[in-house]
Amino acid sequence: MSKKEELQKIKADMEADSKLPLISKPTDIIPGDGNPDAQVVFIGEAGGYNESIQRKPFVGQAGKLLDKGLAAIKVSRDDVYITNMVKTRPPNNRDPLPEELAAYEAYLDRELEIIKPLVIVTLGRFSMGKFLPSAKISAVHGQKTVIKYKNRDVTVVPMYHPAAALRNGSIMTEFKKDFMKLPETFTQVENIAKQQRQENEKPEQMELI
Ligand code: URA
Repeated sequence: MSKKEELQKIKADMEADSKLPLISKPTDIIPGDGNPDAQVVFIGEAGGYNESIQRKPFVGQAGKLLDKGLAAIKVSRDDVYITNMVKTRPPNNRDPLPEELAAYEAYLDRELEIIKPLVIVTLGRFSMGKFLPSAKISAVHGQKTVIKYKNRDVTVVPMYHPAAALRNGSIMTEFKKDFMKLPETFTQVENIAKQQRQENEKPEQMELI
């Protein structure tokens, strides 16, 4: 199965999972979206009204701000993968409950296992909490941390949620600053990964000689 097909299988499995909370019909599921070969994955919280209609993450007001940020750093949405902790819309856009986060977590883990991103950008405190459980967003936003996730090094960059930036001018300032720092992180992480690949290839080359 290609990565794209594996991701489609996750969508189908969620649509058929009658135990998932916040789902009354298969089309309530808002699957992750983007490039299956992405090196960068953005993870939000849960869908809102527009996301539930279009069945695509970050297509409402918060999504427009995310798109602006991506455009400012010259990254296309087609280069990255965007998903949510909870792949439905909670009623009245309330915060997801711990049991809802837990119910969808296995599906998020499957997405990440397939994509194997080098960088995970968390948007808001719920996705940050999965990777950096004791961090405070006001203290760590914009700062990269390398963690072990399923035995692999992954660089996590926690960012404020774009919806929070839209509500608060000083958070917007921080959000924009953090966004502009992303390209440097992407380049650094890609260079390290390239170096590691080259080092892993060396012994084989020696054996060939
Ligand atoms: N907020 C999120 O966290 N995710 C979306 O997809 C839209 C808004």
